[in-house]
Amino acid sequence: MNQSHYNDSLFSFLSSSPTPYHAVAGIEDFLRLHGFIQLQENAPWQLEKGFSYFVTREKSAMIAFTLGSREDPEHGFRMLAAHTDSPCLQIKPRPDIKTASYQQLGVEIYGGGLLGTWFDRDLSLAGRVAGAMADGTLAVRLIDFNRPLLTVPSIAIHFNREANTTNTIDRQKHLPPIIAQSIDRQLPEFRALLLEQMQLEHPKAMIEEILAFDLFCYDFHGPAYIGMNNEFISSARLDNLLSCHAGMTALAQADRSRNSLLFCANHEENGSTSATGAQGSFIDSVIERILPNPEARSISLSNSFLISMDNAHAAHPNFMDKIDAGHEIHLNKGPVIKLNANQRYATNSLSAAIYKLLCKEACIPCQEFVMRSDMPCGSTIGPITAARLGVKTIDVGAASLAMHSIRELTGSSDPFLLYRTIGQFLSSDTHRQLLQ
Ligand SMILES: [Zn+2]
Repeated sequence: MNQSHYNDSLFSFLSSSPTPYHAVAGIEDFLRLHGFIQLQENAPWQLEKGFSYFVTREKSAMIAFTLGSREDPEHGFRMLAAHTDSPCLQIKPRPDIKTASYQQLGVEIYGGGLLGTWFDRDLSLAGRVAGAMADGTLAVRLIDFNRPLLTVPSIAIHFNREANTTNTIDRQKHLPPIIAQSIDRQLPEFRALLLEQMQLEHPKAMIEEILAFDLFCYDFHGPAYIGMNNEFISSARLDNLLSCHAGMTALAQADRSRNSLLFCANHEENGSTSATGAQGSFIDSVIERILPNPEARSISLSNSFLISMDNAHAAHPNFMDKIDAGHEIHLNKGPVIKLNANQRYATNSLSAAIYKLLCKEACIPCQEFVMRSDMPCGSTIGPITAARLGVKTIDVGAASLAMHSIRELTGSSDPFLLYRTIGQFLSSDTHRQLLQ
């Protein structure tokens, strides 16, 4: 696969994944197409060497793995991890707000987004909805309005002379998007609108009443190349669907002779503590079922290596004072190894060395990031998963700008280069050098 085909596939994954639920549904379809067998958490598993499997939890986190035909599970797994969620505005359970002639929706803030970027956008709405059918049974379905439906207009500068200096955003007052206006008629409640959309998208479910939902606003406009020579990719949710896409593509293409595993966790953006987050029991539970014997499991984990993928900060040309000299990260110059003395990233000298060898084997440059010592450092699921499993781990990611904006920016080569390094990982024994 060349870079242009790879980016086509990334663009389509980004567009069809407005929420973690849609991302996991897309990954499921992709893996099924590539011969992965679906397992259910609430049914017994019969696993065989030489086959590939996947299992989802709450349809928003997913673990896929291959039991290599030439290896035993005790030989360890080449593990990959990424997260399915992104900062956004989430609709409140009883969202209807009527102000003047407008109908608005109350929103909570999911994760730590750059809220200023959500103003004046064409927003749509997607997520998961639970409804009651005519016979009283439950139907849970994904929903995507897939059209510009909402907007959060800025207040004009004439009413806010500080807009370009000390502007602050009131998270309760300033963010409810407008969904409709009533000129001379009564507007329906939001749930009525939702019911209509559910009936449209899922006519066979015959849903009669909306019971509950997880619905998220998203930027309606899809990914785009930017720059004189299409050097950049601009899109919503690059953090971290870019890495989920790299993981699923590499895993599906890897030969089935070696053990490999991909964990796509939810809830990274709000701390990972949930049944579907990296702090939860999902990954432990799956590994316990692959290796029920405690000693075999410990041996396997000790023989494993995890590449935890999450986007990395590139140096911003307008804010060069924010970066540490010597660790200036550039777009299009290869994947970024992320290090932090206080274990906000799980990388250490051994795991960094292994990843550098992998990059060398694939003839791909890599870069190294540390935060300035006078600034706090972000984190990701690498240290959490490393702590849970005791597995040797590296945190890497594609270089990006505008992280947590409604639209983020990466280099046009960056997703493909990341994918190639993990493809190299899945087809090599390089990490075994750590075990000697
Ligand atoms: Zn992230």
